[in-house]
Amino acid sequence: MSSVDFRTPLAAFGPDSFEHEQVVLCQDPASGLKAVIAVHSTALGPGLGGTRFRTYPGDDEAVTDALNLSRGMSYKNAMAGLDFGGGKSVIIGDPARLKSEELLLAFGRFVASLGGRFITGCDLGTDVSDMDVVGRVCRWIVTRSRKTGGTGDPSSSTALGLVHGMRAAAGHRWGAPSLRGRTVGVAGVGKVGHLLVERLVHEGARVVVTDLLEEPVRRVVEKFRQVAVVDDTESLIRLPGLDIYAPCALGGALDEAVVPVLTAEIVCGAANNQLSHPDVEQQLADRGILYVPDYVVNAGGAIHATGDLRGRSPSQVTAEVDRIFDTTRAVLEHAESGGLLPGEAADRIAEQRIAAAAGERRS
Ligand code: NAD
Repeated sequence: MSSVDFRTPLAAFGPDSFEHEQVVLCQDPASGLKAVIAVHSTALGPGLGGTRFRTYPGDDEAVTDALNLSRGMSYKNAMAGLDFGGGKSVIIGDPARLKSEELLLAFGRFVASLGGRFITGCDLGTDVSDMDVVGRVCRWIVTRSRKTGGTGDPSSSTALGLVHGMRAAAGHRWGAPSLRGRTVGVAGVGKVGHLLVERLVHEGARVVVTDLLEEPVRRVVEKFRQVAVVDDTESLIRLPGLDIYAPCALGGALDEAVVPVLTAEIVCGAANNQLSHPDVEQQLADRGILYVPDYVVNAGGAIHATGDLRGRSPSQVTAEVDRIFDTTRAVLEHAESGGLLPGEAADRIAEQRIAAAAGERRS
């Protein structure tokens, strides 16, 4: 049965593979579950990251995604000042076809078997009701529904953090931390994108959206009649007068094809791992485009998701998300003063914190 055929060669893990502390390949033929759990680092605390449920061209791509995303979570959590390491899991397959209670429970048992080294919550393709199911067999779950005592969906905090990141970037680039009158293009108006549009409209920005699906776009324009729509991301990135481009769909949004035609002066979005390749940030800088590192500005979700674990009240969580403005500004200033790209500056800050924690643990 091909759905349980795990033959990912070790070589496919790529050159960064041995940065990771633990990678678990999970399968449960009875439910059709095939998943990858990657724990990148527990230096700062248990590996924390969402569970993504989607199809992949092949198992290698799923493993690579889990490895990259878990690494990104180590940096995101460190940058946000959270005492959590980095982890991520992916469930392979089409959630619309494959998702079942049996499968989610099987997945929860795998997460439980790690004994708290990995804590997970919802991500692309999973939602709070899924985490309620997983949480029946596993303690190490965040973003359960509010009715079960969880923090609920973290997307509103992610959107709030993004707006702070955009304002800080606007201040850095244009001298005033305001989005009023700026044109912001949002690619992907799902959970985060929709709430981002709402906040941008409130900030007085002009908003242009696109999505692969009609339904999310319809929901946006029904609510915000002033929002403009373009057919696809290709049209959005080429739009004359675009000030800020916000990739809010999948990773890899910025590549060699996008950079030369992108009209925006700032890139600041929710998607994880936006750079298809590390060189892309230099190419953006060469064109004078300011890239705001994704994990710096999309940390609101992780801050929100762990609020109850950390004993924070909702207002304390909001105050922590508000600090993304200062964090973004500090990263951009550090980059400018050090002659670094923002991504390099952010990585150095995060790596210092992880290394210090790892050192403390050893001593
Ligand atoms: P979502 O699945 O709710 O929304 C994604 C949207 O993007 C969907 O409407 C989908 O149709 C659209 N889309 C997919 N491919 C597209 C394409 N090629 N062009 C245009 N639109 C496309 O997901 P979400 O929770 O809103 O998350 C969006 C991104 O932000 C993801 O990369 C996620 O990992 C990241 N993120 C989310 C959170 C959170 O709190 N939800 C936190 C941090 C990071």
